[in-house]
Amino acid sequence: MELKELMKEAGMVGAGGAGFPSYAKLSEGADTLLINGSECEPLLYTDYTILSREMSFVLSGIEAVIQNTNIKRAILCIKDHTAKSLSLSDGEELSFGIRVKLLKSSYPAGDEVSLIYEATGRLVRPGALPITKGIIVYNVETVYNLGRKVRLGENVYMKWLTVGGDVDHPAVVTVPVGTRVRDLLYSLSIKVDERHTVLDGGPSMGKIINPDTASVTKTTKAIIIIPSASRAAEAKRINPTLAASRAETACCQCTRCTDMCPRHLLGYPLEPHKMVRTAMQAADVLPHLVISATLCCGCGICESLACSQGISPKAVINGYKALLSKNKMKYTTNSDVEPRAERSYRVIPTKKWAETLGIARFDKKPEYLGILSDFKRVEIPLRAHIGAPSIPTVSDGQTVRRGEMVAIAADGLSVPQHASVDGKITLSGDRIIIDRID
Ligand code: SF4
Ligand code: SF4
Repeated sequence: MELKELMKEAGMVGAGGAGFPSYAKLSEGADTLLINGSECEPLLYTDYTILSREMSFVLSGIEAVIQNTNIKRAILCIKDHTAKSLSLSDGEELSFGIRVKLLKSSYPAGDEVSLIYEATGRLVRPGALPITKGIIVYNVETVYNLGRKVRLGENVYMKWLTVGGDVDHPAVVTVPVGTRVRDLLYSLSIKVDERHTVLDGGPSMGKIINPDTASVTKTTKAIIIIPSASRAAEAKRINPTLAASRAETACCQCTRCTDMCPRHLLGYPLEPHKMVRTAMQAADVLPHLVISATLCCGCGICESLACSQGISPKAVINGYKALLSKNKMKYTTNSDVEPRAERSYRVIPTKKWAETLGIARFDKKPEYLGILSDFKRVEIPLRAHIGAPSIPTVSDGQTVRRGEMVAIAADGLSVPQHASVDGKITLSGDRIIIDRID
């Protein structure tokens, strides 16, 4: 079976981001595969744990790409402290064609554009995809999943994640996709009170979830519990309307948000202070005036570190992004850009970033607790990926075995879903519920 077909059959999606179907990234014209193991968000140790325990599956996945495509070079990108723990060195050859690249422990080192530039010296044009520079980027867990598919024929139904933050014993665990967050927290004896906020993902890019209704998806990298009064949690509660009205009254146009913006420093024509100025000038702004908003990677440096006036350029930009998406508008250019000279001395160490977010004291290396699978129920979402929702192929009351397909990929961009436990099916709108039978 062709590699693309194999990835699609396994239901593989980007394990560390928005859930882009992995098979769809395998395009002609790529000469380099980057494996993003940078984990630049504080408190996250998921990729680190996979690399330290399951390197052979990670390498099998990378080798499958090298052997079945025209890609002949793969670079495993990890931070220097991860490399030290794993006894890996910069440039080390892990297998034929696969080398290690050490990155500084900085934020946001894992941003795709930044990662590609640091690892290869190629700078993706603003608004373009990595493939235009001959690059494909996969997360560590994505190639690990491919390794398991190639060697064991296993589909994606388990998820590795960090459970950390303001908890007594941070952990990394492997759980069935669809595990309810409340069940997971209960099994780890973690109680969440009203003074805390629960995130799916890291403290910078993760989103607030309700632990009573959320479940683990194929893109869940972490469940992080942080004080609601921390900078990290506060930033997530700012909405575009509130941000725009605050900008109107408080922005002094100092340009600090632009000076520190990592995409601006890479030479991208993104200037958050101008986005804020636009918010000040016109509520019914014409979309083309703010089209560079689509170049923002959402790192949050402008709101949490740069601005001393309590303004969130990121939230203002998020408002513009929604407007542009509605109008199907995206920044594109035929011109290359160059990183700005000042970029090298505006690097933000991850430790400093964690302190800024008010969560540095929770950064303890977690223990790996292995596979936790003794949950009575899983709820598998039909749409936790980019593209069309998967289409159920099972019916109410049907019993399924773990690994069995329960939903096929829809036409176009989509992936199938597989049962993550043995059990009985209940169809419930946007998800498939499986009640475990032993
Ligand atoms: S840093 Fe704050 S005050 Fe300065 S330009 Fe940006 S939004 Fe305005
Ligand atoms: S969130 Fe702010 S700092 Fe980060 S890329 Fe967007 S505009 Fe730049």
